[in-house]
Amino acid sequence: MGVLLVADVNGAALGRDATARALSALAGLGDVDVLVAGDGVAAAAAEAAALQGVSKVLVADDPAYARQLAEPVADLLAVLATGYSHVAAPATASAQNILPRLAGMLDVMVLTNVIQVVDADTFARPIYAGNAVETVKSTDAVKIFTLRTAKFTAAGAGGGAEVVPVPVAAKASASSAWVEDRIAVSERPELTAAKIVVSGGRALGSKENFALIEGLADKLGAAVGASRAAVDSGFAPNDWQVGQTGKNVAPDLYVAVGISGAIQHLAGMKDSKIIVAINKDEEAPIFKVADYGLVADLFEAVPEMTGAL
Ligand code: FAD
Repeated sequence: MGVLLVADVNGAALGRDATARALSALAGLGDVDVLVAGDGVAAAAAEAAALQGVSKVLVADDPAYARQLAEPVADLLAVLATGYSHVAAPATASAQNILPRLAGMLDVMVLTNVIQVVDADTFARPIYAGNAVETVKSTDAVKIFTLRTAKFTAAGAGGGAEVVPVPVAAKASASSAWVEDRIAVSERPELTAAKIVVSGGRALGSKENFALIEGLADKLGAAVGASRAAVDSGFAPNDWQVGQTGKNVAPDLYVAVGISGAIQHLAGMKDSKIIVAINKDEEAPIFKVADYGLVADLFEAVPEMTGAL
């Protein structure tokens, strides 16, 4: 019956990277229709239609969908889902809010943070902070799941799918309302989409010293990440945290500076393609996952690297 992929939509813009990566993750399941729900999303729908691997774009353009509130989008999906065997979405904060509600409405289970679609019924997802991967077989009539997209290659452009308006009347939410978005402004790449991430840990010792990490990151055109210890100590803002209770990243290059490599940190970065660790303790667990390790004092090594770059 095919797959319905709920596109990542921010404001009126398509979250192209997450949507394109999700398309690659779903490639083995047959035809994929993409739902673009939002307010003023004609351009986003056209952009989605140009992605390779899209059969059809359904566009639900209505102010009720402007903020991706769970209630109106789940109501819409509950109607659309009857025509599909699978409803999936990148595991964004919005989708992690919408799809469980949809699953509840349809009385089926939801699978979150799927990292591999094994076959039409079988999905792999991390458990225990990424220390184990469980393979789940679903007998539900409609499989509903969110995808961790970081490690998938984004589907390219060059597609030319048809864009079809959704013939469903939008219902505004009666039980929740959007109040405000507080969006961090940064000239650096977005942490979860960056090709290079430089992260600092507790060893930095202060917010002022964390500038060493930022300086190296800026030389590399990288996003800045941090361990929870660095965030909890006030050296780095909360939205930089990488790990089990932070962000999940899988860049081409991850540089961990003064980070011990606790399992909760590894849970958020161990799928990175190349991991470089700088730590003065040669026994630090981070070296077990590192491709390149430098046993050194970061206060000497980082300024030297930044200077050389
Ligand atoms: P530390 O463990 O203190 O390590 C500092 C490292 O710096 C050490 O290896 C030391 O050798 C090295 N060092 C010290 N001085 C220098 C120097 N001058 N030069 C070079 N190296 C130096 N953590 C996360 O990061 N993300 C999470 O999302 C997260 N979620 C958690 C969820 C739960 C439920 C729990 C219980 C914990 C979670 N944690 C998380 C915390 C995690 O367990 C660790 O406490 C944390 O990752 C440690 O941060 P750190 O490596 O910066 O600090």
